[in-house]
Amino acid sequence: MSKSELRINGARLWDRLMEMAKIGATPAGGSNRQALTDLDREGRDLFCSWARNAGCSIEIDQMGNIFARRAGTDDKAAPVIAGSHLDTQPTGGKFDGVYGVLAALEVIETLNDSGTSTSRPVEAVVWTNEEGARFSPAMIGSGVLAGEFTLEYGHAATDKAGKSIGDELRRIGYAGERPCKPFPIHAAFEAHIEQGPILEANNKTIGVVGGVQGMRWYDVIINGDAVHAGPTPMDQRKDPFRALHSILAGLYEMADRYAPQSRVTFGDIKAEPGSRNTVPERLTLAVDLRHPNEKILEEMEGEFRAIVAGSIAAANVEGSVRVEWQSPAVEFDSGCINAVRTAAQTLGYPYLEIVSGAGHDSVYLSRIAPTSMIFVPCKDGISHNEAESAEPADLAAGANILLHAILERAGQ
Ligand SMILES: [Zn+2]
Repeated sequence: MSKSELRINGARLWDRLMEMAKIGATPAGGSNRQALTDLDREGRDLFCSWARNAGCSIEIDQMGNIFARRAGTDDKAAPVIAGSHLDTQPTGGKFDGVYGVLAALEVIETLNDSGTSTSRPVEAVVWTNEEGARFSPAMIGSGVLAGEFTLEYGHAATDKAGKSIGDELRRIGYAGERPCKPFPIHAAFEAHIEQGPILEANNKTIGVVGGVQGMRWYDVIINGDAVHAGPTPMDQRKDPFRALHSILAGLYEMADRYAPQSRVTFGDIKAEPGSRNTVPERLTLAVDLRHPNEKILEEMEGEFRAIVAGSIAAANVEGSVRVEWQSPAVEFDSGCINAVRTAAQTLGYPYLEIVSGAGHDSVYLSRIAPTSMIFVPCKDGISHNEAESAEPADLAAGANILLHAILERAGQ
């Protein structure tokens, strides 16, 4: 069989997804397999047993990241790696993360079944604590590897009960010795469910992921005077809501102008003292701005600040903008993106160029290696939810794209 005719075994991939989902299965059909719990250990053990049976050698690094390696004919060459995470949210689904890990393993099985060799080694990787549900921050395993966090910081992160990642790694037997630091990687891929509704709405099977949205979180604080709702005439108030309503209108108008890739979200608002018959003394509004282009996001921030300043002045109140958190936009490697797009064209799957709205291990990985991602649809775009659902045919399609992208990068 020629390489272009190779296809993964969709039934085996599906069976393994269902087998993994039994570990930490929830009554509503999801999985609860939080990072470094006994259940996470079971999931890791299952992955490692499958990978060993597929002839892989396994190495575990100091953050518990797992590397299952299929040798290349030029085994000294930098590997092509693919993977994601096995940990889930407390009420997580069967596919988020797990799919990317098992699709990578399925690629290795397919290469074995067909007797296909690659010049470069191919590795299926499991990253530790991607979700950030048990230990904050999210994506800490790939983050330490890429140098975003120190190893000490990674080991010291604790859960609500005060247990640290370092201790829990030792407890479940996944505190490896391989240094958790950048190593030469020829290309890195991550297959993932989209976690949004765009592919489904456009009837596409494959998302060719060009990058990840930049995200900026702010608090807008508007100060007024707390006065009685009855006796105080309207023209004698300092009312933060007068500024708020024009801030909201201005930002929605800005979102429309930067559409379709802009995102403006007001996720939370607090009024103090928070009494029905008192003008609030202070409003705190949470604002989330996103755009895949860092320069445009910067422009949006400038406009946002101007809108806030103008609205506050016009309402004769005081206010300020506080930056809470930000994550720069990521543009993936054009060579890796091309490998994914070409595979979609060659295999004849309908595809869409797309930008990820969520963070992934690939964000950190892209800092140290040529990286890109492959998205497949999930039902109604629902994720981080026990109802998360994906079609076997779509999952197989994404794994076939992964196979051919890897073949292209890993060489004869
Ligand atoms: Zn994920």
